[in-house]
Amino acid sequence: MDCVFCKIVKKEMKSDKVYEDEDLIGIRDINPQAPIHILIIPKKHFEKLHQIEEIHLLGKMIKIAYEIAEKEGILNSGYRIVINTNRDAGQSVDHVHIHLLGGRIMRWPPG
Ligand code: 5GP
Ligand code: ZN
Repeated sequence: MDCVFCKIVKKEMKSDKVYEDEDLIGIRDINPQAPIHILIIPKKHFEKLHQIEEIHLLGKMIKIAYEIAEKEGILNSGYRIVINTNRDAGQSVDHVHIHLLGGRIMRWPPG
């Protein structure tokens, strides 16, 4: 399958990895939108958030996101987690991932 995140999971492509366990990886985004911008990616390929039936996996992705936020020193200053799904939300990689963003003041609503 021609999926960039599957290739990163399989180590066929390089990444700046900050976390790995049996289910997930955490990597720095190649085009960061904040001083801290990390992607939490399930090792199993799902295109869309609503296709994940393993609800526990979603909980784990969020837990790992805030644990990484703590390690990166943005737990108390502030962090944002985002999952873009489908065209209107701007999903550009069809393999589910959480964006963990922080290290600067963020506006609301998002663009
Ligand atoms: P989306 O637009 O689907 O919500 O997010 C995809 C993210 O993946 C983007 O922020 C983009 O910069 C990042 N990305 C795309 N290709 C690569 C890559 O090869 N390596 C890394 N580390 N990030 C990538
Ligand atoms: Zn994939």
